[in-house]
Amino acid sequence: MGGASVVPESVEGLVSFRRALRRASAELSRALPWIGLEDPWAILVSEVMLQQTSTLRVREPWRAFLQRFPDPPSCARAPLADVLRLWSGLGFPRRAKALHDTARILTRHHGGSVPSRVEDLLALPGVGPYTAHAVASFAFHQRVAVLDTNVGRVLARAVANRSLTPSAAQALATALLPRDRVAAFNQAMLDLGAQFCRATPRCGGCPLAGHCRWRREGGDDPAPRSAGVSRTQARFTGSDRQVRGGIMKCLGTGAMSPHHLRRALSDFDALRVTTLVDDLIRDGLLEQRDGLVGLSGDGGASR
Ligand code: SF4
Repeated sequence: MGGASVVPESVEGLVSFRRALRRASAELSRALPWIGLEDPWAILVSEVMLQQTSTLRVREPWRAFLQRFPDPPSCARAPLADVLRLWSGLGFPRRAKALHDTARILTRHHGGSVPSRVEDLLALPGVGPYTAHAVASFAFHQRVAVLDTNVGRVLARAVANRSLTPSAAQALATALLPRDRVAAFNQAMLDLGAQFCRATPRCGGCPLAGHCRWRREGGDDPAPRSAGVSRTQARFTGSDRQVRGGIMKCLGTGAMSPHHLRRALSDFDALRVTTLVDDLIRDGLLEQRDGLVGLSGDGGASR
């Protein structure tokens, strides 16, 4: 347990950083509605929404989603179109389909509940190591490290002052875990990365500045070369993401003929709209029937 011996960082260094982070955790804490909850479904939904969308944009859709689908069976019973409508504005709608598929699997094979074992979580559609560990830690208080882009930066800069491969980052994150109150510790790491140890770090006000190796030892920023630290997301305006968002929003009001849809999206190239509609049909997010294109499962919609 602990795994401190598999990383080159000294045990004393890890203990000192761990203590300092715990002392700073109240100061770092963000007022996010899903923090401190123990409902595994509510946590899973928040983590899937947060995969590619900022906390600010997730708050309201998350509330609306849980109001409509308070548990996996209520989501499983609904047509995919209802889930996609609630996803509108979050982008990357494949995540909505994956969550809907997950709700069906949970209802069919897990008694309508979210499983606690990381292996079972990883078998669900759209659930990768980050999401599986986050649910296992925050909902079930398991002793697993939650490692996302933000935490990857903290580890590379403050704890190691070296760039980290995925396995090195995971080993270091695990070695850093305390023996108890692991969920609170994981949350503090996420809070530190999200608020201070950002792509452009805010070292000036950082409560961990006195315990940060990169700040103490200097050198090139090790975070950008570390695995798991993502590049800045591509520009939204003019992107396929924007066009796809427009298509999903238009069809959220009801099915349309391809001609009307292209007219409604006349700001974009018609061929591009057609190609992206075809992609969305292939992904199972849209369907075509009676010469109309609409959200999948949206049987009653027409215009
Ligand atoms: S001092 Fe700067 S680099 Fe170090 S943990 Fe804080 S924000 Fe990150």
